[in-house]
Amino acid sequence: MKILINGKTYEAAPGQTVLQVARDNGIYVPSLCYHAKIGPAGKCRVCVVEVEGMRGLQTSCNLPVKDGMKVRTDTEDVKAHQRLIVDLLLSSGKHDCLSCEQNGMCELQDAAYYLGIERPSFDLAPKTVDYDESSEMVYVDRSKCIQCGRCVEGCNNTVVNEVINFSERGFETRIAFDDNLPLGDSTCVQCGECVQLCPVGALLDKNAMGKGRAWEFDRVTTVCPYCGVGCQLELHIDRKRNEIVRVTGVEDAEANKGMLCIKGRYGYDFVNDETRLTTLLIKDSNGVFQEASWDEAIKLVASKFKEIKEKHGSDSIAGLCSAKVTNEENYTFQKFMRREIGTNNVDHCARLCHSSTVAGLAASFGSGAMTNDINDIRKADVILVTGSDTTAAHPVISARIKKAVRDGKSKLIVIDPKKIRLADYAEIYASHRPGSDVAVLNGIMQIILKNGWEDREYVSNRCENFDAFKEEIMKDKYSPENVEKLSGIPAETLKEIAEMFAKAKTGSVFYSMGITQHTTGTDNVKSVANLQMLCGNLGIPGGGVNPLRGQCNVQGACDMGGLPNVYPGYQKVTDPKVKEKFEKIYGRPMSDKIGLTVTDVIDTAYDGKLKALYIMGENPFLSDPDQHHVAKALGNIEFMVVQDIFLTETAEFADVVLPASSFAEKEGHFTNTERRVQRLNIALPAPGEAKDDWEITQLIANTMGSDWNYRTVKEITEEINLTTPSYAGITWDRIGLNGLQWPCPTTEHPGTPYLHKDKFARGLGLFHEIEFKEPAELPDEEYPLILTTGRILEQFHTGTMSRKSKGLNNIGKPSVMISVFDAEKLGISNSEPVEVSTRRGSIEIPAFVTKKMRAGTIYVPFHFVEAPANRLTINAVDPVAKIPEYKVCAAKITKLKK
Ligand code: SF4
Ligand code: SF4
Ligand code: SF4
Repeated sequence: MKILINGKTYEAAPGQTVLQVARDNGIYVPSLCYHAKIGPAGKCRVCVVEVEGMRGLQTSCNLPVKDGMKVRTDTEDVKAHQRLIVDLLLSSGKHDCLSCEQNGMCELQDAAYYLGIERPSFDLAPKTVDYDESSEMVYVDRSKCIQCGRCVEGCNNTVVNEVINFSERGFETRIAFDDNLPLGDSTCVQCGECVQLCPVGALLDKNAMGKGRAWEFDRVTTVCPYCGVGCQLELHIDRKRNEIVRVTGVEDAEANKGMLCIKGRYGYDFVNDETRLTTLLIKDSNGVFQEASWDEAIKLVASKFKEIKEKHGSDSIAGLCSAKVTNEENYTFQKFMRREIGTNNVDHCARLCHSSTVAGLAASFGSGAMTNDINDIRKADVILVTGSDTTAAHPVISARIKKAVRDGKSKLIVIDPKKIRLADYAEIYASHRPGSDVAVLNGIMQIILKNGWEDREYVSNRCENFDAFKEEIMKDKYSPENVEKLSGIPAETLKEIAEMFAKAKTGSVFYSMGITQHTTGTDNVKSVANLQMLCGNLGIPGGGVNPLRGQCNVQGACDMGGLPNVYPGYQKVTDPKVKEKFEKIYGRPMSDKIGLTVTDVIDTAYDGKLKALYIMGENPFLSDPDQHHVAKALGNIEFMVVQDIFLTETAEFADVVLPASSFAEKEGHFTNTERRVQRLNIALPAPGEAKDDWEITQLIANTMGSDWNYRTVKEITEEINLTTPSYAGITWDRIGLNGLQWPCPTTEHPGTPYLHKDKFARGLGLFHEIEFKEPAELPDEEYPLILTTGRILEQFHTGTMSRKSKGLNNIGKPSVMISVFDAEKLGISNSEPVEVSTRRGSIEIPAFVTKKMRAGTIYVPFHFVEAPANRLTINAVDPVAKIPEYKVCAAKITKLKK
């Protein structure tokens, strides 16, 4: 349709509002309570316009367009009305624009400028200040609040954290947190959504205060360096000091729609931290690091790699690439290991989080990635979350799930030993014994089959091996009563879950490491795949098997062949045709022997058989299980090189340490959990001598006598397009703001939001007969508790980045979660320091006594070097994926003697 604004004709689409059409065409209409994300509010009445044929002035933010509508935004009547409102708002708050932090970003200031208001006409401002400085990250100045309600909407209906509301009435109306608590004492998770939505200076990022004015900063769009959601963010850069001053979410980004969590928004201190590696280090004969030049260090690395390769063979050297660096850097790293060293001994920490996903889903469907995309969450009738503390580990996905439930679109089922925050939104919450996942899933599937709730047509048309699968499932041991004994979930609850899930038109499953980090990790994943095939939930929007990937580029590191059995694009090293293809492209003979996994690397080093190790951006000393074992293994290696942004606990073991650039200092791509390839842009120069990881790898290769000649990252992207079929169409120039989701086989292909549409990647979906097996180590008299490990919201992985942030450290501290039941039995009170021990070691850590923990199970986050959870964990691994069983081992807690 067409509408006329101020005498000019504009195109408009049905459903658009007059304000949207005006904005789309660059016509400024002041508005304060409206924000595109939260929709029309019609409260502040600043956005009024005149419409021919309509009486009085109309609020444009909630006025739908009609064909032929004639609108005026610029009449004196309109402006007089707007002027009065803006004047009243300016008069009723302490809007000291000269000293306000928001100066230059304030929408009230913009409106006043547009309307020519020089100073407020009335004296209505409060005489007392109303600050709230109690929160670590968010500063509140209620005397600047114009009560637009954007923060209330955002907190309750966008991120669904339900903290902010209005309290009192009339002139006394004010924003309040929970039941009028100081923000720092409320349930606020400090995601900063309210700050981003506030049009004035009433809610501010505390960290950015006093650091400069908005117009002094450059803005660079890039991707969050923490979890796999892949939130896009803008870094606000102070060029004078080369510092990140503030971070905001990109509103138009598909993955996060402007939302961020506390880490993405406030955890950037590490980039400018004074302990960043800025020089090269070589260990002298006394074991002390000495500074070195690039020339010295690279010559040493190249000559040692060559010498060890000649003396002990290519397979005596291994490399760990990284889930924290770009696709291009992982691509070059695996190429270096395969082409220059001549081994497939390349792996990374995906082994420790989702290798069972890759193995299990590849066996079931032919492709080992999240099947559906984040936008699909709202299309699911029922969402089952299991083995994922989504609110802590993938906060923005958790917000999407809560929103789908909140809007009445989806029902939620949560199965987890810990009563995670999402459980508050669930129709059914079930707490199961860690390690009983296969029993639970088989039990649910038996109920579905017994009641005939399966999707028979889907099963017979799209899948195979159903009969053998059914035979296993229908065994007596998976009856609801037996599963109750195995898992602790009441039989009745199992029936309710089965009915709700199977009867839904579309059901999606979200899981994370609670499913994968077991000796039965691959079996657990295959069982999830079985459930979704049985219910016909694959290849449809709103369905799917959705493993949530842990790190910013763990998906990309796998896609790029950072695995010992596959080249980029999961092309098998054992396939002669693939070998021939890469020999042709790389111009060298390639090995067809499957290489060592991360866990094999540590065991081989422990046995003294691994001679050299090249690590790029990984910290196995803290991330791998059984720390004493890892320490001995790393100590045994003849020559070790670590390339990182900090001197990590692992780097302390190295012979040579090479300084690398961080996410903010490089370009390239990350692939997020939903297979979306997104661009990183350079925001800052790398500090000191630091270089991009790909440059360092190229230097080593060429000093070893090779012929690498990448001049730009783009040239590496082009080689990825050439070698990796699923990335063939994801070219540098095609990747816009929202990237492209693989598979994207040609430059005309739009990318793939959900997989397995008409057929599975392997043709038919394969049902597996999965028998329930107990974890490797069960509680006994000496160690009567189950220890399970994971993340907390405010910290990330081994803490290399998040622990450099004072704010995150002040909130995210180590503690062992213990149930009220166990704490009472052991006489342990909240915050009391205790000793947690397993057969592998002990740590001292404060207790966090909570009703949310299952009796008999304790939970320790693995981020903390002073209380390292992985000193306790067991190094038993899944036989297929070689993923360690981080989620179950036997433990005990003892009170510390006073
Ligand atoms: S920071 Fe996030 S959780 Fe806290 S009040 Fe603001 S929107 Fe709500
Ligand atoms: S704090 Fe900001 S967003 Fe919230 S009501 Fe006040 S002005 Fe609006
Ligand atoms: S940590 Fe994850 S959820 Fe948080 S901002 Fe970064 S990508 Fe988004």
